[in-house]
Amino acid sequence: MRKKLLLGNWKMNKLASEAKEFALASVPFAALAKKNNIEIGVAPTYLSLATVKEHASKDMIVAAQNVHFMDHGAYTGEVSIPMLKEFGIDWVIIGHSERRAYDNETNEKCHEKMKALFENNMVPVYCVGETLAEFDAGKTKEVVGKQVKEGLKDFTAEQVARLVVAYEPVWSIGTGKNASSEIAQDICSYIRSILKEMFGGVAEEIRILYGGSVKPVNVKEYLSCPDVDGALVGGASLKIESFEELLTNIL
Ligand code: PEP
Repeated sequence: MRKKLLLGNWKMNKLASEAKEFALASVPFAALAKKNNIEIGVAPTYLSLATVKEHASKDMIVAAQNVHFMDHGAYTGEVSIPMLKEFGIDWVIIGHSERRAYDNETNEKCHEKMKALFENNMVPVYCVGETLAEFDAGKTKEVVGKQVKEGLKDFTAEQVARLVVAYEPVWSIGTGKNASSEIAQDICSYIRSILKEMFGGVAEEIRILYGGSVKPVNVKEYLSCPDVDGALVGGASLKIESFEELLTNIL
C-alpha cells in the first residue's frame, strides 16, 4: 500500500524568518498526518532548509529544490549532496519544469543528479510534464515517456524503490488551469506502466504525485485516483492555513 504524500514546493518564496514561523505552526499537522498514515513535507529555499529542519516536526519531510551532482569543486552558486546531508536533508526535487525552462535542466542532467542521490541513499522527487504546445499537439505521453526513460535509464529496481515521480503538466503550474483528474490518472497510470516495463514489480511501490494548481478544493479529487499517490503543491502550500486544509481535506 503506497502512503499518500503531500509535498509543498515553496520555490523562491519566504524569508528564513517566515519559513521558521511556518515550521513551528506545522508541528500539529505533522502529527495529524502521521496519525492518518499520510506523509507531508515542504521544499524551502536552500537558505531556509536548516531552520525548517530544526523547527518542524521530525515527521515533516524537508526537501531541497535542487542539488549539484558533484560533491565539491569549482561550481559557483551550486550546493552539493554532502552539504544537504550535513543538515539532515535527504529529499530533493529534480527536474522541476521551471528549472528545465530557465536553467537548461535536461533529462541527462536530471539523470546525473538522481544517480548521485541514489548513491547517497537519498530520495529524488523527479518532475516530468509536457508544455501547452505539446499537450495541444497530443504529445503528452511521448514527452513524458521520454523524460521517464531518459531520466531513469540504467537504474536498478532497488534504487528506484526510493523514488517519487511527480507528473506536472507545465500548462497547469501556477496558472489555475489544472488538468482534470481523468488526465492526471491517465498519465500517472501511463508513467507507472513505463516504470513497470523498466523495473518490474517495484513500480507498484513507487509513488507518483500530480502537481499543477492543486488547491484545498480539488486535492481530494486527485488523490482519489488509483494511480495518484499524492500532490506536489506550489502556491497553495505557502500559507499555513491552506497547507492545513490540503491535509484535512484528504483525511
Ligand atoms: C509546482 O510548483 O510544482 C506547482 C505545482 O505549483 P502550483 O501548485 O502553484 O501550480
